[in-house]
Amino acid sequence: MSEPDRVAEITENLSLVRRRVERACVAADRDPDSVCVIAVTKTRPAEDVRAAVRAGLVDVGENRAAELAEKAEYCAGHGLVAPEVRWHFIGQLQTNKARLVARWADVVHSVDRTRLARVLAERARENEREITALVQVNLDPDAVVGTLGPRGGCHPQDVAAVADFVAEREGLRLGGIMAVAPPPDAGVPVGESFARLRELGVRLRADHPAATMVSAGMSADLEAAVEHGATHLRIGTALLGDRPSGGVMSL
Ligand SMILES: *Cc1c(COP(=O)(O)O)cnc(C)c1O
Repeated sequence: MSEPDRVAEITENLSLVRRRVERACVAADRDPDSVCVIAVTKTRPAEDVRAAVRAGLVDVGENRAAELAEKAEYCAGHGLVAPEVRWHFIGQLQTNKARLVARWADVVHSVDRTRLARVLAERARENEREITALVQVNLDPDAVVGTLGPRGGCHPQDVAAVADFVAEREGLRLGGIMAVAPPPDAGVPVGESFARLRELGVRLRADHPAATMVSAGMSADLEAAVEHGATHLRIGTALLGDRPSGGVMSL
């Protein structure tokens, strides 16, 4: 597909997503400008990032360190840099890949342990950057944890400790909280999960008033996320189409 055709396609998808967001905001009595749409470009070619930006998006999300670095480098090489594009890292992160992420990501949504926060902060300082870090929390019921492979996120009880640690690190700025809703077969209604996340966010802001970001909601559940106060939606398929190789989500 030619680039103009791809831009037109993403533009149309974006207007559908924005309409969904607006409708959910009206229902929740929220300002649509309080909701940021992040285009999740994982598995897509770097050209798609450029097409997404031309379609009007600024925020781009990736879930693998090497893929983030590759695309961000490609974009930078083609003059596509901040503030035109902002990179979000949304996947599980091993400490040995923190360097790549710290080089490129403006926001890391998946900080779920103090050791990762410490290494990420060190790498951010080496790059003379400040990274916004969100504490990822695992909302899966205890019965499901472990049966789906590693999905990332700290236990809800540990949010405060991870957040306090992040807040003390030079090189990191505590932005807020993030979660992925449990899978449908976990038997927990998505609204219930996002309500719990909102509750954890309220508690977090009691200690850290500036930690206002709530990253929740994907293509299938963005309405529920908006209803429960999400400020950042991570949208892949609804913007860019089905992912290749069956669209398996790797978290
Ligand atoms: C892939 C992914 C998304 C986007 O999912 P879609 O269903 O394609 O919108 C959101 N969040 C995370 C953490 C992801 O890995």
